[in-house]
Amino acid sequence: MRRNNFEKDFEEFVVVKESPIHGKGIFADAEIPAGELVMVIRGEVITGTECERREEEDNNVYIFWNGRYYIDTVNTEKIKYINHDCNPNCEVQDRDRETLNLVSKRTIFQGEEITMDYGYDEIYEDCQCLTCNGNN
Ligand SMILES: [Zn+2]
Repeated sequence: MRRNNFEKDFEEFVVVKESPIHGKGIFADAEIPAGELVMVIRGEVITGTECERREEEDNNVYIFWNGRYYIDTVNTEKIKYINHDCNPNCEVQDRDRETLNLVSKRTIFQGEEITMDYGYDEIYEDCQCLTCNGNN
């Protein structure tokens, strides 16, 4: 299995604040260079059926998919607040069966909101991200 071996992550520099995109977001509290492990995405590993149930019955929108398992991050402090951007500064990479890596695609400056591409079709239909709104 392919595996990234980042020596450290930047999670201690990731803070939750009110976001101009939507609700709360996560922000860099220090400059994060490109190609670094921002943080490890961990959560409760669930089946696809349970994922569907939680999305429909609990309106749970915090479930990541690693291509094989579903990772519910609803009980996490930071990663569940990551907002979508069509031109994000981070991407999600495989790690192992229960976790994912959030990796910086470019330099993220102190105070900048950390974003990823949610990657599901509905998000692009009426996207309110900073890139689509032209505010950035
Ligand atoms: Zn957008």
